[in-house]
Amino acid sequence: MTSPENRPEASDASRVLHRVFGYDTFRGGQQEIIEHVAAGGDALVLMPTGGGKSLCYQIPALVRDGVGVVVSPLIALMQDQVDALRALGVRAGFLNSTQDFEERRLVEAEFLAGELDLLYLAPERLRVESTLRLLDRGTISLFAIDEAHCVAQWGHDFRPDYLALSALHERWPTVPRIALTATATEATHAEIASRLNLEDARHFVASFDRPNIQYRIAPKNEPKRQLLELLRTEHAGDAGIVYCLSRASVEKTAAFLVQNGIEALPYHAGLDARVRAGNQARFLREDGVVVVATIAFGMGIDKPDVRFVAHLDLPKSVEGYYQETGRAGRDGLPSTAWLAYGLQDVVQQRRMIDTSEGDAAHRRRLGAHVDAMLALCETVDCRRVQLLAYFGEKSTACGNCDTCLSPPASWDGTVPAQKVLSTVVRLDRERRQKFGAGQIIDILLGKKTAKVIQHDHDSLKVFGIGTELSATEWRGVVRQLLAQGLIAVEGDYSTLVLTDASAEVLSGRREVLLRREPERAARAAKAARTASRRTAAVDLPSEAVPAFEQLRAWRGATAKEQGVPAYVIFHDATLREIATVAPSTLEELAAVSGVGDSKLAKYGQPILETLAARPEEAGPGAEPGFPAQEPAPTDEPGLPADTGTAETDTAELGMAEPGTAAPVDR
Ligand code: ADP
Ligand code: ZN
Repeated sequence: MTSPENRPEASDASRVLHRVFGYDTFRGGQQEIIEHVAAGGDALVLMPTGGGKSLCYQIPALVRDGVGVVVSPLIALMQDQVDALRALGVRAGFLNSTQDFEERRLVEAEFLAGELDLLYLAPERLRVESTLRLLDRGTISLFAIDEAHCVAQWGHDFRPDYLALSALHERWPTVPRIALTATATEATHAEIASRLNLEDARHFVASFDRPNIQYRIAPKNEPKRQLLELLRTEHAGDAGIVYCLSRASVEKTAAFLVQNGIEALPYHAGLDARVRAGNQARFLREDGVVVVATIAFGMGIDKPDVRFVAHLDLPKSVEGYYQETGRAGRDGLPSTAWLAYGLQDVVQQRRMIDTSEGDAAHRRRLGAHVDAMLALCETVDCRRVQLLAYFGEKSTACGNCDTCLSPPASWDGTVPAQKVLSTVVRLDRERRQKFGAGQIIDILLGKKTAKVIQHDHDSLKVFGIGTELSATEWRGVVRQLLAQGLIAVEGDYSTLVLTDASAEVLSGRREVLLRREPERAARAAKAARTASRRTAAVDLPSEAVPAFEQLRAWRGATAKEQGVPAYVIFHDATLREIATVAPSTLEELAAVSGVGDSKLAKYGQPILETLAARPEEAGPGAEPGFPAQEPAPTDEPGLPADTGTAETDTAELGMAEPGTAAPVDR
């Protein structure tokens, strides 16, 4: 048997891949990028989250002479990144504002002595003359500019300090630069290239598909219960992120999950900074923690084994949805992106746009973003095809999204649409009063509620003309009319009003195609469950489950002892393979993907002992049981109470250095 590093044609790069990282083959475009940069070329790399960007600069830095300087805005994560590299035997260090003078001095000394392979820097360091002089005194193998979209002024993560990075090339013209980002849009791509002077660099644009993520968008009726069901049936014991729009719903959802036996922690900008940092650290370091968060959570989180990302509220844009769901499954194992979406989401998003600050053009832009997101929710075609098309990528039906697994029917909803619209017309014109969706639906169903009687709505011609559909189905109709712009919401009470397009529907000049919901939802969830079970089973045969659990326990204890995240010891994918292969010698263990020289030396023996110490299984049923289901309060599917003051958290928490405008040290 020849291992890759013994093959005569093996390049330096594949030797490093094998010996240091323990991987057999490059992924996607890695090899081409690595060879280009290792040979001294400049590169701009667009690759999705989990695509394997880090190796694209880490391996060239190890192959070339000198120290690879990595610029990254994610200072809260630098310690973990450096720990992960050190665990692999790579000599890495970082310089940022979290260190005291003495710590910085040590790293600087290592740099000057040529004792580092990689040096991580916050971008603001490079505006300090003393840092530049320090770099002058060492040998730099390359500059890696991570999260390069931060240089894009109109993007969502702009960092002024990134603009100064264009000067790197002037000061060190012979040092190759590689800029990397997971942001896919054409506009950002172009802006990065021009602002970093990388027009002449080679551009590597990977597919943005994340085939291991299963996309599902479910009609929302009892969101918290739906979420709990998902966690219990498909993700028991898994790490995951639940996104909510408001701080209040973050708190409530986290509490609800905890009540139901799930290890859930809240995260939002209103929490004390220490609590927030503590919750983030537990999520990163421990196994199976669920974080319930506003969108302030997650940028740059490189935890590889996030098994699900759930949205309880509609994201504001397809970009946001893609970035947030992209935090699932970096390790390539099957993962779920689940979104619950209902009438109220549409009402609320539209209202937030109406009341937002900024000019009409700004509001139009926000509206266009929401429309694209709604189109993704309401599509009867493959979610992935639509998602990738948004980023300009063509693809074919994926077989791993809810619409592929259980294709929804579309139906002619023209008549129901007309009924809704004429009810709105009557309320508006005849009575000069406006009402929300709830009242309209009560009228259509012929319900004599107090409010109906009070306003004399039971005498309207439209009263009771809609008994062919249920209340849930009517909400689906109204939601889709809103999504298609055939009706609009207005004012503080979210009253329904006509749009220019409504007239075409009322006069019969325009057909309305709707997506059929109810039974579909149950079927899709079932099909999706079967599909994800199937993929999970491929990864881990049932007889390997006990060994995997044993290894996970060993990993947890070891990580705690060393004060590093569990995945720094070994990734899930590696533990799974070890559990499946059940090696009995170090040689066999070394063949497992993710076991490089350094980790073999450090953990080889303990792993073999853990496997050998395992008691023979006590028969079937070793699967951990689910906690018993308890009845829980249900959410009113109509109007959520806690969304009125949805503070939008920024995505900057814990990432940027404080006081970026005025560098502190000299
Ligand atoms: P990105 O920065 O693009 O989101 P990472 O560099 O964090 O992605 O890589 C994602 C995951 O894939 C990591 O867990 C990494 O160890 C793993 N990985 C990267 N390249 C390979 C490879 N060639 N073979 C196996 N695993 C890889
Ligand atoms: Zn699909």
